[in-house]
Order: sequence, then C-alpha cells, then structure tokens
Amino acid sequence: MSRGVVVGVDIGGTKVLAGVVDEAGVVSSTALRTTPGRRGVTRQAEDALVEAVLEAAGGQPLAGVGVAAAGFVDPAGDRVMFAPHLPWQGEPLRELLQDRLGCPVLLDNDANCAARAEGHHGAARGARSALMITMGTGIGGAVLLDGRVLRGANGMAGEFGHMQVVPGGQPCECGKTGCWEQYSSGNALVRNARALMAEQPSVLAESSGGRPERVTGPMVTSAAEEGDLVARQAFASVGDWLGIGTANLVAALDPEVVVVGGGVSAAGDKLLDPARAALRRTLVGAAHRRVPDLVAATLGPRAGMIGAALLISGQERW
Ligand SMILES: [Zn+2]
Repeated sequence: MSRGVVVGVDIGGTKVLAGVVDEAGVVSSTALRTTPGRRGVTRQAEDALVEAVLEAAGGQPLAGVGVAAAGFVDPAGDRVMFAPHLPWQGEPLRELLQDRLGCPVLLDNDANCAARAEGHHGAARGARSALMITMGTGIGGAVLLDGRVLRGANGMAGEFGHMQVVPGGQPCECGKTGCWEQYSSGNALVRNARALMAEQPSVLAESSGGRPERVTGPMVTSAAEEGDLVARQAFASVGDWLGIGTANLVAALDPEVVVVGGGVSAAGDKLLDPARAALRRTLVGAAHRRVPDLVAATLGPRAGMIGAALLISGQERW
C-alpha cells in the first residue's frame, strides 16, 4: 500500500460522511456533505463524495478510499447497481472515483461495511461467525461467516428485512406483504405506539401534541425510558419480532454472536431483552446448543465509514 491516509466514506440518501481511519479503527478527522437524493443528478452525488473525501484528508496524500454505499453493489465491487435513495443505477463508481481521486477505491454495501467494522473493532471482535442486524426505518444486515462477508451471487446477501414472516401481512415498500421489517424496525415501533396510544393513556399524547401522526422513533425511545407503558409495549412487540426473525437466521447460519445496530438499537435492553427471550423460545434445539449472544453494536453511526476504510487497509479477516 502506498504512503498516505486511508479514508472511509459512508454515503446514504441524505448525507455523506468521510473520515481518516487508522489501522486500529480510530477516526481522526471527518467531513460531512449532503447528498442530492434519488432524484438528483449522479454527478452531484459523486461531487459530494469527492469533496467530503478531500476535506477529511486535509491535503494529505491518499493511500486509498473505501466507500460504503446504501444500495446494491455488484459482487466485484465496481458498481452501485441500485440504491433506493441515491441516483446511481449501474454506475461504475469505482472507476469514476479512482480517476478523480488518483488512488485505489473499493466499494461495498453499507451494511457489509458496518458488519466488517463490528467484526474487527466492535461488538463481534474475536468471533469467527456473526450476524449483523441493522434496525433503522427498515432492517438491513450482513453475514460474517468463517472469516469473510458473505456476498451472494448478486452481491445481495443479507437483505433480512424482506424475509416474509406473516403471509398476507402488512404491505411493504418493496411491493410484497408480511416482510420482517414491517414488524421489527423503527417504522414498526412508531406504528405500534400510534395504535396503542388510541387505547391507553401515554406521555406520547403530550410529546406529540395530541397528534399520533407526529410520533417519532426517538420520542418512543425516550417515553420508554420514562417508563411509559405504551412505549414499553411498542418495544416489547418489536423486540419479540426481532427475536423470532433472528431465530430463523440462527437456525440457518449458526453464528457465534448476533450484533444489533442502527438507530433503534439505541434503546438497548428495552429492545434486546424481549428479543433474547423470543430467540430462546423459538430457536430450534435451544436447550441443546449455545444460543448466540444478542448484543448491541458498539461503533454507532461511524461503523459504515470505519468498515469502508477496512476495505483498503487490507485487514480482510472479514
Ligand atoms: Zn419488503
């Protein structure tokens, strides 16, 4: 690897975060830009990314840039095939960025990068196999198996959120029904809380100004911290479904540890305790195996950026 700094970049639908990351996963300087969204021009997204990288590097030479993109990246890591919140469709982003930045560039899906970071420096450190479940508005994920990230034939492995758990259930943005993320995600949490508010008193009535449509995920989390019963029930349901879906994944993949990241995981044990109970209840052979630990991610919103840098720094244990 040539001399210079390694920059990791995490690009999502609203912002791009770039940072200089050292071999221990420590981030020394960061830069933030907004992204143009799905209707923007592809060049604008590329410009935002390049500007963030150059600002983070602060004039130091670039040894390489790793990019975590919120979308489907082809198995070779050359192109973003499709991104629900970005304008790219089959864009040869790796080559375009290498030309503009004058250094090696590697791409991967953002959930894969976050999982790689947790595997090296975070909650799954030391494990040979792990599942990462990212709970934001929906569910994303990644599989770390026998020392590497499982990519799949299309680079699409780990899309756990769209496993069908309730035939004919809640409609999903993906066009199907009964997807797991309709029952266990930030959106599901808010939907549960709104429904329960109609039946029981809750501090959420006050924090939303009496308008259930104004309830947000963070409002439900802080209400649960105050002991609000509606908020706690909303978390109990989302946690129960988290455990049920996780049991299916554990039955298939038998990981050592399951790491839960994303915004909803900030609720900690309010989410994870009901999930652990449901995992034990529903996992095949639970009495005769070591049921994997279900733990909160430790690297927070920087995980994608740190994992992107790991693409370059060559520590490919995952
Ligand atoms: Zn779906």
